[in-house]
Amino acid sequence: METMPDFTPSLIVHGGAWDIPDADVAADLEGCRRAAEIGWAILQKGGSALDAVEAAIRYLEDDPIFDAGVGAWLNAAGEVELDAIIMDGETLDNGAVAAIQHIRNPISVARRVMEHTPHSLIAGHGAEQFAAAQGFSLCDESELLTGHELERWKIIKGKTNYKVEESFGGTPHGTVGAVARDKDGHIAAGTSTGGTPNKLPGRVGDSPLIGCGCYADDMSAGASATGWGESIMKVVLSKTACDLAANGSDAQSAAEKSIGVLADRVQGLGGIILIDQHGRIGQAFNTPRMARAWIEDGQVIAKVDK
Ligand code: ASP
Repeated sequence: METMPDFTPSLIVHGGAWDIPDADVAADLEGCRRAAEIGWAILQKGGSALDAVEAAIRYLEDDPIFDAGVGAWLNAAGEVELDAIIMDGETLDNGAVAAIQHIRNPISVARRVMEHTPHSLIAGHGAEQFAAAQGFSLCDESELLTGHELERWKIIKGKTNYKVEESFGGTPHGTVGAVARDKDGHIAAGTSTGGTPNKLPGRVGDSPLIGCGCYADDMSAGASATGWGESIMKVVLSKTACDLAANGSDAQSAAEKSIGVLADRVQGLGGIILIDQHGRIGQAFNTPRMARAWIEDGQVIAKVDK
């Protein structure tokens, strides 16, 4: 019987767009590099794109340098609310959680939503209850916080008349994402974030929304986006990039053109990583920097600058 030849696996991860401060660059590069190695090891052993994406993102969520899982930004009420999505390009199945609290690895809860419910997106308290029912342990909010965010949380928690303007601002950066294609040619993508600093409680950005922060279709491409969520949503950035790939653009030009649409149509700011149906990698951003790492000729390459 004839067997299908294996496809060459591909993988790219990101650790967020924006003007990453010089002081964070080394840690961002190391985090992305390590996450790429973890995802790549799974693909090398014949594992699925979904498993590679989930494992890479779990690593990035656990690394406090990134705004996802541990290390997430606080919202205006001094709470951590996390968003995550994962999508399977073979079936177009997808699962997401939005504004979920007390969870260290929302990407894994998103995968349970995809695989164990008839739903695509579960938000807020319901998402937390679902996670607990699925056996995820709920953590104290302070366990998700480090550095300035922990200091800010302590100040906010002790005050009744706290004003958002008093908070430790900071440039928003550190959303994470991954896209992989496995030896069977299946593409998967995922994105996870704490959102933007000082967001209103309950605010949900592009990240957990299908087509906006993430999309994957074996017939076109897989993509994960980062940047100014409200502008990314307007142009449904990840789906726009995948459609460009379906219509003949290679991964790099699909990534560049989609960021062109974001900039030209809504003056948006952001970045995107992409793997097309041929396994080619694309990456583009119009923010000063975007942390990312990918595999080229079996080697990990990590960068924050163009
Ligand atoms: N897109 C994320 C959001 O708007 C933030 C980011 O990627 O920096 O929640």
